[in-house]
Amino acid sequence: MAGELLLSVKDLEVRFRTEDGIVQAVNGVSFDIRRGQVFAVVGESGSGKSVTAMSILGLLPKPPADVTGGRVLWRGEDLLQATPDRLREVRGGEIAMIFQDPLTALNPVHTVGRQVGEMVMVHRGMNKKQARQHAIEMLELVGIPQPDKRVDMHPHEFSGGMRQRVMIAMAIACKPQLLIADEPTTALDVTVQAQVLEVLLGIKDEIDSAIMLITHDLGVVAGMADEVMVMYAGRQAERGTVDQIFYRCAHPYTVGLMESLPRLDSPDDELKPIGGQPPSLITLPSGCAFHPRCRYADLQGRCVSTVPDLAEVDGSGMHRSACFFAEELIAGELEVRR
Ligand code: SF4
Repeated sequence: MAGELLLSVKDLEVRFRTEDGIVQAVNGVSFDIRRGQVFAVVGESGSGKSVTAMSILGLLPKPPADVTGGRVLWRGEDLLQATPDRLREVRGGEIAMIFQDPLTALNPVHTVGRQVGEMVMVHRGMNKKQARQHAIEMLELVGIPQPDKRVDMHPHEFSGGMRQRVMIAMAIACKPQLLIADEPTTALDVTVQAQVLEVLLGIKDEIDSAIMLITHDLGVVAGMADEVMVMYAGRQAERGTVDQIFYRCAHPYTVGLMESLPRLDSPDDELKPIGGQPPSLITLPSGCAFHPRCRYADLQGRCVSTVPDLAEVDGSGMHRSACFFAEELIAGELEVRR
């Protein structure tokens, strides 16, 4: 059964003012996240996925960023209208973020115990002794051996994977209801990646929260997510359950992301990166923003003249695609035009 609706983002629009012009970083993005769910946001860098996450928590510097439209409803409360004090309360306490690079996010001069404990001193009013004990429990929860000793160590004394676990311990210290993990394993090798993702999943169940997982890697999504939103050039290209995205893929960009994944059954096959570059967000291509890179594009027709809406592709109400030819693509009947 679907869990409680925690986050509902509606028609979010974010721009940046730059010397070269207005960058439309996020353009009409909507999605819901429910308790218990792992919601993945996938796309190349510059697709708008991190900007979407940072707008939820009011973390974008204004200027140059400007949220020009939409709503971010956190359990019914619009965070775009929240006061700075309320946003501070939400950050860390109710919604926490795990960043890609623990070395820049952790403070090198303080022990990990102090950094994990600080969260509960600020948000839960614990004293130093209680906070230290809580930090030990959190380090244990994320699988750090000998947590009562490691609590007094500094970040440089931990390996990359262990530092990422410390980041997770910090993020979960206040038992937030939503964890936003932005490329949480990109800097780690594959084995450690799998361990850290497993820790994240275990924690989600343990504290009964939800995870918004931001990644460029569809491989990470396969083993972990319930629902997936694929972003391209600030818009949603496709959204659906993990099975729909992997087995009934309905957007050529998602096909490209899949083809660029290494194959476990034939690891020696050459990877096929998506040809071309993501477009400039200052001057988007006309029509479908993916058309200059799309091998199915109808260059004499709608693909270059009209922006496709994110439309339902089957009766499930879950699977949506912003491609004019989604049905044909699913049916394997879409002609490669170039
Ligand atoms: Fe390709 Fe056209 Fe579909 Fe865009 S709308 S993804 S250009 S086929």
